[in-house]
Amino acid sequence: MALIVQKYGGSSVGDAAKIKHVANRVIETQRAGNQVVVVVSAMGDTTDELLDLANQVTENPAPRELDMLLTSGERISMALLALAINAAGASSRSFTGSQAGIITDEVHGNARIAEVTPDRIQEALNAGDIAIVAGFQGFNRETRDITTLGRGGSDTTAVALAAALKADVCEIYSDVDGVYTADPRQIPSAKKLDYIDVESMLELAAAGAKILHIRAVEFARRHNVDLRVRSTFSTDPGTKVYSGKLGENMEESVVSGVATDKSQSKITVIGIPDLPGKAAALFTTVADAGANIDMIVQNTPTGVDIEDKVSDISFTLPKGDCAKVEAALAAAQASLGYRELEVDHEIGKLSVVGAGMRTHSGVSATLFNALAKAGINIEMISTSEIRISVVTSLGEVDDAARAVHTAFGLDGDVEAIVYAGTGR
Ligand code: ADP
Ligand code: ASP
Ligand code: MG
Repeated sequence: MALIVQKYGGSSVGDAAKIKHVANRVIETQRAGNQVVVVVSAMGDTTDELLDLANQVTENPAPRELDMLLTSGERISMALLALAINAAGASSRSFTGSQAGIITDEVHGNARIAEVTPDRIQEALNAGDIAIVAGFQGFNRETRDITTLGRGGSDTTAVALAAALKADVCEIYSDVDGVYTADPRQIPSAKKLDYIDVESMLELAAAGAKILHIRAVEFARRHNVDLRVRSTFSTDPGTKVYSGKLGENMEESVVSGVATDKSQSKITVIGIPDLPGKAAALFTTVADAGANIDMIVQNTPTGVDIEDKVSDISFTLPKGDCAKVEAALAAAQASLGYRELEVDHEIGKLSVVGAGMRTHSGVSATLFNALAKAGINIEMISTSEIRISVVTSLGEVDDAARAVHTAFGLDGDVEAIVYAGTGR
């Protein structure tokens, strides 16, 4: 008998009819002779709607209460799915994250899983029940409080449970047939990938492709979980994420896909003295403000004498972190000695990812030629071994993604299907 963990995202459980549909899929999986654990997200856009509500009652919601609020979304869907499964003639029980043994650190809003003790899930399975678990949430032993794992974190709940229960496979069910060469909502000519290597999947997730939570991919790599991405609304076998070696007859793609990220801003520190230690002081100030920065560019210093030499340093960071970093840098202007700050919220990041980049030349040439032909100006560039990212204006990033997707020969012949959801 195999043990299968299935995760159904918000669009898959968006209304009562969809919950009944999921109930039937889950029951079919059990009747095929498997033990089944199901992880669910909050219905539709519930998490965003709860966040909107919190912001209507206060400008500055306390992280502890926000977690109490947001975790209620997943509790609604877990109970409804259990009710639907039981009504359809099978036997299931629902569990919150803490009941399922998801133990985390104490960080509200972005907690990391420290330990998984799924005793109650194992008991339910032993009794022949289907176990339903609320995704995206955990419990901290020291504070005795409920935590959340960050947006999209239900994927991570599923992979962590699959690892702890030594499941045979972890299936992430969403509103598209698998991992595509680009977001099919943005580029309908994107092609579904039958398989993707875990390194490329990590880079795509980090670059903004929200089909999988990055921590879920990290967990799958570390614990060798057999991870698949499939659609709730079709029987397509989906995409397999390979943690080990690719199988026979499988070629490593030069480029697996492109992703865009519109959630970042750019800060430029203008006229900072070109002296040893200045960058260290600058980025210590940024780190102390609690921001995670992404790309950094420093231009060539200008000025004749050593003492007069100044340069500009630009970096990108999440939009939500911008205000606190701006305030911290303004407070440190005298000690850092820069002339002025410039903040740009209207930027977009485009990334091209592929494990084959390690061994193929000409990838950057193709990328930059495609952008030049489309008349798109590049503001920043960064690379890793298997990724090239560029920053453009926000208004141009979608055009840039389309041009680059075509230039790398990723366009398919048929339009990708998006079965449900609002893409919010
Ligand atoms: P769920 O509610 O099931 O967790 P998400 O909205 O978190 O679903 O993720 C699924 C969405 O991810 C898709 O509807 C699609 O718009 C988006 N997406 C972004 N990049 C990709 C990609 N490379 N392949 C597939 N989907 C992608
Ligand atoms: N409901 C949470 C969110 O919208 C978690 C998830 O869906 O994975 O981010
Ligand atoms: Mg998701």
